[in-house]
Amino acid sequence: MAEYTDLESLHAALSKCRLCAEAGYRIESRPIFSGPPSARLMVIGQAPGEAEAPAGQPFSGDAGRRLFRWLERAGWDEETFRATCYITSVTKCFPGRRPTGEGDRVPTAAERRLCRPWLEGELSLVRPEVIVPVGRLAVQVFYPPETRLADVVGSSIVDEQGRHIVPLPHPSGASRWLNDRRNVGRVEQAILILRRLRLELGL
Ligand code: SF4
Repeated sequence: MAEYTDLESLHAALSKCRLCAEAGYRIESRPIFSGPPSARLMVIGQAPGEAEAPAGQPFSGDAGRRLFRWLERAGWDEETFRATCYITSVTKCFPGRRPTGEGDRVPTAAERRLCRPWLEGELSLVRPEVIVPVGRLAVQVFYPPETRLADVVGSSIVDEQGRHIVPLPHPSGASRWLNDRRNVGRVEQAILILRRLRLELGL
């Protein structure tokens, strides 16, 4: 992939990306992402869902409502968050429904590999100080592949680039995960960490 020196050029090229369709995946080729180049916090989800695809905006469905309720408790209202923070995902096009019709298809490892250079480009051009990987696939970008959500939600690390990594569960699957009371406590702890970072870093 070409190297981009500014986010605008990357977005222009990303918007035309058809790599997954060319590789034979029946996806909706419409990359979805949002946020300014000045963003100091980046949310990385798994992939756009059925609600995001027509809206063209990340986290605009039920999962987004739950995510923004969490972020609100960390001190951000949705409008401010969307205007100042960057939101993207591990794969940026809606992967379609599961063949069974129950929920959205999880992007394959091959799709994730195809899309990874775009994510690396976004990370290197936005240079966020805080990264919130949302859900297992996004967590695996920053932690070993065998990492379970329960191992990392409610904690944070500072990576070798000095970025604070604060994982959250994916809000669309979170209700089942949250049936375990210990996981409710983990999300509460993650919200507290985000709140503290927002105040300490003046986000
Ligand atoms: S998911 Fe990523 S790699 Fe695949 S077509 Fe969309 S932007 Fe390109």
